Amino acid sequence: MCGIVGYVGRQDGVPILMEGLQRLEYRGYDSAGVAVAKNGALRVHKAQGKVRDLAAGLPKRVAGPAGIAHTRWATHGVPSDVNAHPHVDATGNVAVVHNGIIENAGVLRARLEQEGVAFASETDTEVLAHLIARSDAPDLEDAVREALRAVQGTYGLAVVDARHPDRLVIARNGSPVVIGIGEREMLVASDVAALVRHTQQIVHLDDGEMATLRPDGYSTSTLDAQPTQKTASTIDWGAEQYDKGGAEHYMLKEIHEQGAAVQGTLRGRLDHRFGTAHLGGLNLSARELRSVRRVKILGCGSAYYAGLMGAGTIESLARIPADAEPASEFRYRNPVIEADTLYVAVSQSGETADTLAAVQEVTRRGGRVLGIVNVVGSSIARACDGGVYLHAGPEVSVASTKAFTCTAVAFALLGLHLGRIRDLGPADGQRLAAALAELPSQVEEVLARDGLIAEVAEAFAGCDSAFYVGRVRGYPVALEGAQKLKEISYVHAEAYPSSELKHGPLALIEPGLPTVAIVPDDELLDKNRSTVEQIRARDGRVIIVGHRSLGGLADHEILVPRSQPELDPILLGIPLQLLAYHAAVALGRDVDQPRNLAKSVTVE
Ligand code: GLU
Repeated sequence: MCGIVGYVGRQDGVPILMEGLQRLEYRGYDSAGVAVAKNGALRVHKAQGKVRDLAAGLPKRVAGPAGIAHTRWATHGVPSDVNAHPHVDATGNVAVVHNGIIENAGVLRARLEQEGVAFASETDTEVLAHLIARSDAPDLEDAVREALRAVQGTYGLAVVDARHPDRLVIARNGSPVVIGIGEREMLVASDVAALVRHTQQIVHLDDGEMATLRPDGYSTSTLDAQPTQKTASTIDWGAEQYDKGGAEHYMLKEIHEQGAAVQGTLRGRLDHRFGTAHLGGLNLSARELRSVRRVKILGCGSAYYAGLMGAGTIESLARIPADAEPASEFRYRNPVIEADTLYVAVSQSGETADTLAAVQEVTRRGGRVLGIVNVVGSSIARACDGGVYLHAGPEVSVASTKAFTCTAVAFALLGLHLGRIRDLGPADGQRLAAALAELPSQVEEVLARDGLIAEVAEAFAGCDSAFYVGRVRGYPVALEGAQKLKEISYVHAEAYPSSELKHGPLALIEPGLPTVAIVPDDELLDKNRSTVEQIRARDGRVIIVGHRSLGGLADHEILVPRSQPELDPILLGIPLQLLAYHAAVALGRDVDQPRNLAKSVTVE
């Protein structure tokens, strides 16, 4: 689930591996380790805690031309020095780093123990090191292949062997592995973030593929030893985009990048003359899109909430019934897949295991899936029939902000495109295209309220719990706002449709309890005002996020520019990101790496 980096080349790999690990830190992890091969021996160093703890304990003389490194997010066995990767076989020749889960590790471990193998760790991964080392195959790649035939589960894998310091063997099944092609050196990583400083040329491994990397080249094949042909692609994000650039946290940096990020999502896609959007990657003709009778959106966490927002936008613009569902649940309920439903999978990283599995389930049953994804060439992007890239630039913070906003914008573009093929008139189309074009500068206007929002965030100080409420279009905004607060400040937060408050949760409103109410100036303004009144009547503390003042009714008001009603949620969501951010900072939380969470959830 977390990070893999590997290097084979003419230089000493250690600094490159350590720098790569730092680049992967944002994903969240509990321990780290590195192994290098030199002069027929492996040097392995591991540490629970941060990469800097590993670096602090690393002797200066550790060096070697081939090595692998890892940040672990424990699934089997507690976070500890011993359970940290790399894992080594009994002879000390073979070292393995692994992302994912070996499901039959228990059975394999019992069998190996019966054969006399002593295990050092509690991890599922260690069985791989022993299986590889015990293979009779003369070649490391064949030994890894043989070991992988025995395992069930998911893996991104990198293996180094002290006896072959001229190569690494890597493999992938369900967990991303990307090769970086350098000048007389080869790299591998679970995420391009660890590669961009060394090369722009990359090759994505597919599930069921493995590769041998040597300084001068690489060869790929299937688990059945059939050679495969790969073409390299170019990373379109520069190394500097991964830097914090003076900001205190990646999250704050990314919140403030949203004007430019939305511009990136819109670029080249708006057609003001015909009042529509051009989405080159859909791979669906107007005729095919006209036959869509339903839209089903799949995503996890914030991507699911962005999907709920998108469902509302599509339904109102294209008048096609649309709904969203957690991708993590979808495949387990034996879903009905219909030929005239358009499925849309949402994932910033394009590597979310649950979402990928949902895409595969739909595709296997003959359904058609579009992806709304940020990372070009990622697994979900490749598994879908077509889609819309966000072009939001890399998102490093675990808590999603700009990808959430840009996904909502991508759905507006899709809704506009679908709408104009169907019943949305040209004047409405032009109205929306003009409003979309204005969003980047309106986003900047919202961000200019950062100071005020930081003051309002003090309302959360000393609170154990908060409510977020919104009606219809405002409800997904509330859901995502509550999610943000939970994720990074650890303050318990619940979102409800405002209309549901009096059907139960109102019982929990007590003096001082903060409620964030989404109150746009739309046809539901009066209904929303009465929700605020009901909370105030019980002395609850209300923060409204809306377009105009309720004249002293609320305790705090955060006002944002008005867009068109269908697009208003996009701007209304942004203050909630800043609220959560400032609340978390005030509480002294680790904003970019919240506890227990990881960016890009590549395990189930
Ligand atoms: N299942 C392995 C472990 O618990 C790998 C975890 C990971 O993906 O970081 O060690």
